[in-house]
Amino acid sequence: MVISVASGKGGTGKTLVATSLALSLEDQDNVQLLDCDVEEPNDYIFLKPSFTRREAVVILAPKVDAEKCTYCGKCAEACHWNAIAVIKEKVLMFPELCHGCGVCAYVCPEDAISEEEREIGVVELGQSGGVQFAQGTLAVGEPLSPAVIRKVKECSDREGIVIIDASPGTSCPVVEAIRDSDFCLLVTEPTPFGLSDLCLAVEVVKKLQIPCGVVINRVGVGDEKVESYCHEQGIPILLKIPLDRRIATLYSKGIPLVEGMPEWREVFSKLFRDIKEMSVAGQVAK
Ligand code: SF4
Ligand code: SF4
Repeated sequence: MVISVASGKGGTGKTLVATSLALSLEDQDNVQLLDCDVEEPNDYIFLKPSFTRREAVVILAPKVDAEKCTYCGKCAEACHWNAIAVIKEKVLMFPELCHGCGVCAYVCPEDAISEEEREIGVVELGQSGGVQFAQGTLAVGEPLSPAVIRKVKECSDREGIVIIDASPGTSCPVVEAIRDSDFCLLVTEPTPFGLSDLCLAVEVVKKLQIPCGVVINRVGVGDEKVESYCHEQGIPILLKIPLDRRIATLYSKGIPLVEGMPEWREVFSKLFRDIKEMSVAGQVAK
């Protein structure tokens, strides 16, 4: 079963929920936590895994042979991403815009473009107690986070329990991370910003037809509007985490909630059981 954890905005407690859920299940067989927040992976701070494998994520980037090039400009015309420009007798490449699609090499009439591997990120795999852990890290300045996310997701074993920690927001990296999940947990907070970003996140999961439920974090900080919205939309509120200085202190020290306050272990185990039961019974809103 694949459960993704997402949030319409950063700082709502997505990492807290993803790591607590994974660690509460560590006694079960085959539990994985995949940190797909590749621009800022931070689950490792809480799991402190021992990494045993490292794999580079590469794309094929074009390289122009000046000896063969006639500066016809066909490659620049064909590049959808404006990553290549031909100015007089010069071909300029903008690697940070290149998506490695290979179109320029395909259209070049002189066969002047070859492709070479460029490392855009890395995937690391390891273990933390009973949890198998993988995280992706996008190289600085690289735009292709979906490629790194796909590589992290290749580690998934859907026969077990896979928890995916997605990036915050609602853009392409989030879609790539939560796509094909059996369930998506949306983490929010009871504030006007939390509600606004939750509405956007709900639209995304609805479009992808992924069943979802909500975790409200820092209950007590704002108002009831997030709850009213969930009731109106028929989205189950699966867990409320109170505004509690002890939780914030543990988080700031990199101590997992279920270790610092073990009473939360059963709360998150129950969260998993509820998700599983709802999925089996088909009771979840899409
Ligand atoms: S299409 Fe080929 S020959 Fe034409 S400008 Fe580009 S690299 Fe040079
Ligand atoms: S590989 Fe694709 S994105 Fe990169 S320069 Fe060529 S056409 Fe543009």
